[in-house]
Amino acid sequence: MAWSLIPDRVYSSIYDIDTEALAEAGVRLMLADLDNTIAPYSVSKPSEAVRTWTDSLRNSGIDLFILSNNRSAWRTHDYCTMLGVPYITHAGKPKIAAFRRAMEQMGRTPAETVMVGDQIFTDVAGAKNAGILILLVRPIRLDNPFRALRYAAEQPFRALGRKRNRA
Ligand SMILES: [Mg+2]
Repeated sequence: MAWSLIPDRVYSSIYDIDTEALAEAGVRLMLADLDNTIAPYSVSKPSEAVRTWTDSLRNSGIDLFILSNNRSAWRTHDYCTMLGVPYITHAGKPKIAAFRRAMEQMGRTPAETVMVGDQIFTDVAGAKNAGILILLVRPIRLDNPFRALRYAAEQPFRALGRKRNRA
């Protein structure tokens, strides 16, 4: 078992994350995956719910920064511009370069930063490589056979992460 693939916390969605508690623990920056974490793949405009969530993060003193592996630069650009948050697209997760660049741009240390994402082999592995806390959410939609298969392969790591929730 690769321990570096086990998430620190597992949630049903971004809305279940206790952002106030994170802020109290000194978190000031949330790096977030875009596709299937914040929005479904097909959605190009932030929903009202995402806008409200982003505002509440901001109000608790945590900046949001999108770290996406999406190769379509315009989609990430349009979405993040509408949401009013900085981003890196084509981020190359799980490599740590983009994680480091985001923290540097925002002037934050790994200890002040968390990552939220929906995939084990990119989001979890990348955050672990970068030395930051990783919060895993369930993918918003599994309407594609490849994604469903990958999700199945991720189950052992999700299960172990859920055990950590209780620790
Ligand atoms: Mg994703």
